[in-house]
Amino acid sequence: MKSFRKELWFDIPSRRAFINITPQVNECLRESGIKEGLALVNAMHITASVFINDNESGLHLDYDVWLEKLAPHEPISQYQHNRTGEDNGDAHLKRQVMGREVVVAVTGGNLDFGTWEQIFYGEFDGRRRKRVLVKIIGD
Ligand code: ZN
Repeated sequence: MKSFRKELWFDIPSRRAFINITPQVNECLRESGIKEGLALVNAMHITASVFINDNESGLHLDYDVWLEKLAPHEPISQYQHNRTGEDNGDAHLKRQVMGREVVVAVTGGNLDFGTWEQIFYGEFDGRRRKRVLVKIIGD
């Protein structure tokens, strides 16, 4: 069995954003040479997510509006977590809703997606360098 590991780095200039990282994960898969197996992609920070959904800008705006209703950034004093001196209590909650990782089957050297599926990085507390782990195992 082969094993491949790579970290993808992001430095998002805004507090929140959604980035389609499918091309980078595809590049990892090509580098790995693995044709049959599993690909795990996970955020390495507790205020960012990796998730699968449609690459549609209206949907991404809907997510942002929905997450802001669930866990508004302000007032920052509403979160116990921010009593530590941080201001990202909302980002921890948004990450929990949107998830930490995805696992995608690798079949015939390709990511074995359902219709319209793409992989996204969800940033909820940006403006600093953060990582995503890609781990691919198989043959
Ligand atoms: Zn925090």
